[in-house]
Amino acid sequence: MATIKATCPMCGDVDLTPRQVRVRVTEAIRESDSHSSYVFGCPQCRVDVEKPADEEVVRLLSSAGVRIERIAVPAEAREIHDGRPIGYDDLLDLVLFLETHDAISEDVALASGR
Ligand SMILES: [Zn+2]
Repeated sequence: MATIKATCPMCGDVDLTPRQVRVRVTEAIRESDSHSSYVFGCPQCRVDVEKPADEEVVRLLSSAGVRIERIAVPAEAREIHDGRPIGYDDLLDLVLFLETHDAISEDVALASGR
């Protein structure tokens, strides 16, 4: 089994097995914003460490048997949105609106001609 050498910010160099390391590949909305990292729990101090990984590091860790975790951004996140973000006041307005749900059914009835 391959031994992977990594550096813990607290303990310095540590030896890991491929099962102790994970690679995360996150697809961002724009290709240039995508990023990859590798994550391990330090066997000495137990701190979780995450470090950036370029394509070469991802390829090397993958060939050593490290599990690749791909995080895909859903298609909806790639849509372009206009307008300001929904705020706390908007949610309160929605709650107040829904409390008068009878008005909605009346509106639907009027719209459908009933
Ligand atoms: Zn450590």
